[in-house]
Amino acid sequence: MRDNQLIRYSRHILLPEIDYEGQLKLINSHVLIVGAGGLGSAASIYLAASGIGNITICDFDNVDLSNLQRQILHTDKSLGINKALSAKSTLNLINSEIKIVAIEKKLDIKSMESLAKEADLIIDCSDNFLTRYSLNNIAFNLKKPLVSGAAIQFDGQVSVFDFRKNDSPCYQCLFPDSGEDKELRCSDHGVFSPLVGIIGSTQAAEAMKLILEIGKPLVGRLLILEAKEMNWKSLKILKDPQCKVCSN
Ligand SMILES: [Zn+2]
Repeated sequence: MRDNQLIRYSRHILLPEIDYEGQLKLINSHVLIVGAGGLGSAASIYLAASGIGNITICDFDNVDLSNLQRQILHTDKSLGINKALSAKSTLNLINSEIKIVAIEKKLDIKSMESLAKEADLIIDCSDNFLTRYSLNNIAFNLKKPLVSGAAIQFDGQVSVFDFRKNDSPCYQCLFPDSGEDKELRCSDHGVFSPLVGIIGSTQAAEAMKLILEIGKPLVGRLLILEAKEMNWKSLKILKDPQCKVCSN
């Protein structure tokens, strides 16, 4: 690490659990973030500031005025610009030492898979079940950790599926895909602005813990936040022996 990096990351290096070695791990890591909306904003800002050396961030959507209430990567100046590109320019302002790749196109399974192959870890900051189930399949096949998050109205949730371990449950175990449309969208139902920040930041924390191999990740647990009451609950998730993804 150069002198300026030692200063930039000094408050991490001071933590015995991270230290110089841990900060190097963060610098040498590659994280794929799918979605540059509310969750992706908070997650990517903390990961970039923390010095994750390679961040790939994907979003095919453009910044709309109704996004700015919670998607803090984007500003008035980003209106009409692709969200991944807007994310890249904000993240580069926060930390110019890291490499950020913006993917502007809509991802099909194949392109999602090839991006995931290059990354050490995948963070699902998407807002739809199709992407969530696809990322779950891809991460399982590649045996990579997946940090999953969701937020709607005043309620949020986070979990980690670590497919490097055989006993990790998967997203499908938790929410079996019944094929019906159970989508709740922020555009129809609303979302409390700081909620996406709390959930996205929790995803960043879990991702960094996995890279650093410290603490206890949310594997086999679903962390639920009811922000109106500010109640946190942690539910145990069991691997489903009938799961069509992870139990073959
Ligand atoms: Zn499963």
